[in-house]
Amino acid sequence: MVSRVIPVESFDLVIFGGTGDLARRKIIPGLFRRYVAGQIPEEARIVGAARAELDDQGFRALAAEAIGEFVGPAKREGDAVERFLAHLSYVAVDAKGEAGWSALKAKMRPGVTQAFYFSVAPALFGDLAERLHLHGIATPEARIVVEKPFGRDLASARALNATLAAHFTEHQIYRIDHYLGKETVQNLMAVRFANILFEPLWNARHVDHVQITVAETVGVGGRGAYYDKSGAMRDMVQNHMMQLLCLIAMEAPYRFDPDAVRDEKLKVIHALEPVRPEDIVRGQYRGTKDAPSYVQDAENQSSTTESYVALKVNVANWRWKGTPFYLRTGKKLRARASEIAVVFKEVPHSIFGEEEGWRENVLSIRLQPNEGMTLSVMIKEPGPGGMRLTEVPLDMSFAEALGADGADIPDAYERLIMDVIRGNQTLFMRGDEVEAAWAWTDPIIAGWEGRGDRPKPYDAGSSGPEDALMLLHRDGRRWREIRE
Ligand code: NAD
Repeated sequence: MVSRVIPVESFDLVIFGGTGDLARRKIIPGLFRRYVAGQIPEEARIVGAARAELDDQGFRALAAEAIGEFVGPAKREGDAVERFLAHLSYVAVDAKGEAGWSALKAKMRPGVTQAFYFSVAPALFGDLAERLHLHGIATPEARIVVEKPFGRDLASARALNATLAAHFTEHQIYRIDHYLGKETVQNLMAVRFANILFEPLWNARHVDHVQITVAETVGVGGRGAYYDKSGAMRDMVQNHMMQLLCLIAMEAPYRFDPDAVRDEKLKVIHALEPVRPEDIVRGQYRGTKDAPSYVQDAENQSSTTESYVALKVNVANWRWKGTPFYLRTGKKLRARASEIAVVFKEVPHSIFGEEEGWRENVLSIRLQPNEGMTLSVMIKEPGPGGMRLTEVPLDMSFAEALGADGADIPDAYERLIMDVIRGNQTLFMRGDEVEAAWAWTDPIIAGWEGRGDRPKPYDAGSSGPEDALMLLHRDGRRWREIRE
């Protein structure tokens, strides 16, 4: 096995919102793990920048606590944490005022890769971009990392793109979709484009349909107020699921190059047909005597926001005409499981007759838990007594196949932050992609808002509303079981 890790040059990384939840749970622990992996050079500096009046020691204490909570003990051996913390410092800045900006400027070193991570509320993205520019802090090669959500509709995404474009060029802007940083998602491209086996079958002639499932067991408790303004369509489908669909459906890019890959994804989004109202099922979870309902979690008794959505999507091009993509995502479902399943067609003629137990081939790509891929194939059941068929999985669990324990697969954020430092935009969304995705999503949302559509109730711990089952049943298909 060849392992090639591209070395990283020295950098100054500023984390705006460095004291926030995302920084504590993902960004700081992720940077620490990359440090332990030897990927952060000793000259690198990480600057926390947020509203709180902290000093360097205070920020290091916060980072140490985050590492203690979110990084396993094996990685914290020896003086690794101490040495990592020495790279950290802090500046109090106000995104909406002038305080702290000259101190931040004084910290930046000339001639070093600069990255600014906007881990703050999206309403502040424009303020940060503007102040970095006004105070002459960002160099023409500086990179900015923008968190989700990127707008809530086409108009707001366009406005945000325009605001960022006033101060940064597209090659400087890294729009995060952390699904693209997942090992399996990238492996999907490797499997498709580094093997001769799959590509000849990867089309409407041989693929019956595709199912993309992102199921969560948690509700919206804690972030109910935020979620209630968004819903599953905006929170999951427009971004993450759309990206997964694009990677499955896209043509081979001419090269594994950021714009070549993103050009192909964009073509898929342009090829999506508008979704008919009868091809969408929205749901909202009910409460039980022990657990709150969605409207209780959202603290909005009259909420019509969906905590579940399932839809049938058609890609109108030569490759996919006639092969539907079924997408579903929801909260409080029976298991936490994300999977892309490519379900192939039946053989044209069964030489074995009406064989009990016959199943179609399925390539299942699991994003969580235990990332990996399985190809189900039919074989002869062992033993005498005639030809009986049985389905066996050709299993490729990455953790096992690559000799890594699960904990060694880098988290999506780790990989994406290092890609920012390396200047590789392949796994980040381009502005036109985001806008095209909203242009497809907006009429769907406007449609149900216009009709006064109310989501269908479903039980917590179930597979979602009954109507979602019908979405496939009426096409003679069925959803795959949601299981861990
Ligand atoms: P948070 O509320 O926990 O933290 C916000 C941070 O912004 C704090 O550090 C705060 O000091 C800073 N801040 C607020 N106002 C400021 C100002 N005027 N000037 C300077 N700093 C200011 O938020 P979060 O959950 O960490 O989310 C940050 C971003 O990441 C948001 O865009 C969010 O949508 C996105 N995001 C978060 C998560 C998550 O799991 N928390 C997941 C995906 C995306």
